[in-house]
Amino acid sequence: MPRAFWAQCPKCDESFQAHYDELRNSGIKLLCPTCGHRFLDSEAKSITE
Ligand SMILES: [Zn+2]
Repeated sequence: MPRAFWAQCPKCDESFQAHYDELRNSGIKLLCPTCGHRFLDSEAKSITE
């Protein structure tokens, strides 16, 4: 089972799950499924691993 983490969108405050290996500390922007905002994991309002 792939490792995942929760990221909270800095724009709409919704949390969603993202694949850890692909997106954590990778420099690839996350895509919020709620509002469509793209942001780095370092820009997330909160991260839960
Ligand atoms: Zn959002």
